[in-house]
Amino acid sequence: MHRREAPRWALAPLLMLTVLVGCGSAAQMRSPALASSPSGPSAGGSRSRRSSASRSAAKAVTGESSEVRRLVELGKPIYCAGRRGDELALTFDDGPGPYTRLVIAKLRKHRVHATFFVVGRNIALYAGATRQERSLGAVGDHTFTHPLLTALPRGQAEAQIARTQAALARASGGPVFLFRPPYGGRNATIDSIARADGLLEVLWSVDSQDSLGASYAQIERNVIAGLRPGAIILMHENRGQTVRALLKIFAALQRKHLRAVSVPRLLTDDPPSAAHVRAEGAGCGVRAGTLAGG
Ligand code: ZN
Repeated sequence: MHRREAPRWALAPLLMLTVLVGCGSAAQMRSPALASSPSGPSAGGSRSRRSSASRSAAKAVTGESSEVRRLVELGKPIYCAGRRGDELALTFDDGPGPYTRLVIAKLRKHRVHATFFVVGRNIALYAGATRQERSLGAVGDHTFTHPLLTALPRGQAEAQIARTQAALARASGGPVFLFRPPYGGRNATIDSIARADGLLEVLWSVDSQDSLGASYAQIERNVIAGLRPGAIILMHENRGQTVRALLKIFAALQRKHLRAVSVPRLLTDDPPSAAHVRAEGAGCGVRAGTLAGG
């Protein structure tokens, strides 16, 4: 929906670039069974069950944040995770919107986690939506009005990002440390703004192509073909075709013994190496600079 708002002159070169595709085909990864929780054994048996539980919850949160902090410091976007586990991340951009309630209901019913990259100006239109989205995984900053950031002066790009980060933290009830630039449009300036704001720039390794007008059957095929460990999958929560594709996608996850988790959880359980991150998508089967969705 927001894609149409980009000036045509700005969008055309992006659209002409052909699109990436999934996380490579050759290197299928092993799927070792993961331990159920990254937080270690609790130390000391004399503590009450309650304090031990809250310590371990706090530790899990700290673990996710510290891994994300490590990646933020690298100042580069993430396209996929380490691809060594049985987890991947579904992401939904451009909400909240009229379909958000349906997306949330389907995710809840099937116990699937996700990450939502939210457009700031939509937050107040759907009260409570971003809090529910956070409860299903994580929320991230997708700018306030969805412009192509690389076409803006630095100050305006900074304002787009910071204003949304603050509004989203307030509305969703927690800190915001994930960011996705609209259309995947980024450069060294945008990377540096994100890093200064403590935001991890999250792109994707698989494009459902829903924002390019794919039918629900095409969306199913595009996503299911890309379901593999470490993948970060781009979808949009303001499209009926995407909502319609979800059930088949969830069924395919089960069939392939893969779990959809939030982006911070994925990066904590299956972190990409620094070398992998510096390769800017090459390790994910993505050619840098070829993204056109988002
Ligand atoms: Zn977008």
